[in-house]
Amino acid sequence: MTGLVDCNNFFVSCERTLNPSLEGRAVVVLSNNDGCVVARSNEAKKLGIRMGQPAFEIKDIINKGQVIALSGNHLLYRAISIRLHDIFREYAPSTTDYSVDEAFLDMTGIPVDALEDIGKEMVARCWNDEHIPVTIGFATTKTLAKIATEYGKKNGVKVKVLVDRDEIGSILDRMIISDLWGIGRRLAKRLHAKGIYTIGDFARCPRQWVRSEMGVTGERSWCELKGEACIDLDHVDRNLQDSVSESRTFPIDIDDFDYMRSRIAIYCNHVARRLRAMGGQCEEMCVWLTTNRFHLERGYSAPTATTTFSPPTSDSSVIATTGIALLEHIFQPGCLYKRAGVVLNKITPATSFAPTLFEDGESQRIAVLRSKRLMNAIDKVNTKSNPQVVRLAVELTKGHVGHNDGYSSSFGPAKPL
Ligand SMILES: [Mg+2]
Repeated sequence: MTGLVDCNNFFVSCERTLNPSLEGRAVVVLSNNDGCVVARSNEAKKLGIRMGQPAFEIKDIINKGQVIALSGNHLLYRAISIRLHDIFREYAPSTTDYSVDEAFLDMTGIPVDALEDIGKEMVARCWNDEHIPVTIGFATTKTLAKIATEYGKKNGVKVKVLVDRDEIGSILDRMIISDLWGIGRRLAKRLHAKGIYTIGDFARCPRQWVRSEMGVTGERSWCELKGEACIDLDHVDRNLQDSVSESRTFPIDIDDFDYMRSRIAIYCNHVARRLRAMGGQCEEMCVWLTTNRFHLERGYSAPTATTTFSPPTSDSSVIATTGIALLEHIFQPGCLYKRAGVVLNKITPATSFAPTLFEDGESQRIAVLRSKRLMNAIDKVNTKSNPQVVRLAVELTKGHVGHNDGYSSSFGPAKPL
């Protein structure tokens, strides 16, 4: 049996440990530039606030006091996460930290009858020791454990042991296909076109069809739904951060798009490199700008743009290309910008398991492998002492703005960072 522990509304729950007056109120945590929503309390979910929603869209209800918006305190979340994972390890023979607020528990050798009590004790410990509410699902495979946890969270059941075939069938029939672990929005859309709306629909498809449509990884998900465990997580880095970001205040205000584009490309390349160094891949990225607060006649503005990656990526060129597209979206000619930054969010371990990689079949799988090999090669060439041997062309700009912000963007020998 496999378990999945998932902390409920983790960042908000962490904030509530410091400030109990947040209990029972609509609370959101914003990404580290305060650009978009990265965590929501149940009360905030009920108000219709979406994950990743830009903060300016909910400014009105924040100002009215209907929602409390907090800047993320990632050191706090990390500290609590490490202590929680230590608790998990006390109860399971072996655990895999999957993300800052999720861990898989390998319960091999423990009788199924004992799982509910063990789960309840873990829930109580997490609450008593750390004041964090968690939900635990147990099942025969990781995919079903994920489903059990989702079911538990939606139905207010803290520990869900999901082994009964009939019960599994009826739960799968009530869950939409895009809620299946590893199914991206694009793939879900494609499956909708084939008449597959629920996870139950998917589970009823013939195995051969799943294999030919979705490749071996789709087939793996299908097998897991049947109770056949076949997804292996690689060893997961405990130090995976929740987000990686880079931003700079410019020595002078910037209205030159080419210059801004090169800065965004440089930040993108840096955050992508850090993402790969910690063994992660990201699902979401955000680019933001702020104008100079003291230029009152122009009015202060802080535009942000966010997008998601499906499949998740750690490829510098994908991240830089996307970052520049986001910049084009928010950059207003004539505005003078003071700060700019890039944030990568929703970081998960870059494991071998990523079914969405295969939504376009073999060609996409090859593209992903190529990208990984290229990034590996670049990371080997760019050493700590000489980090700019290979760069993205878009980091370079011919225009000179006439100041040095510490980044080289001219052609010729690279300057150390
Ligand atoms: Mg969670």
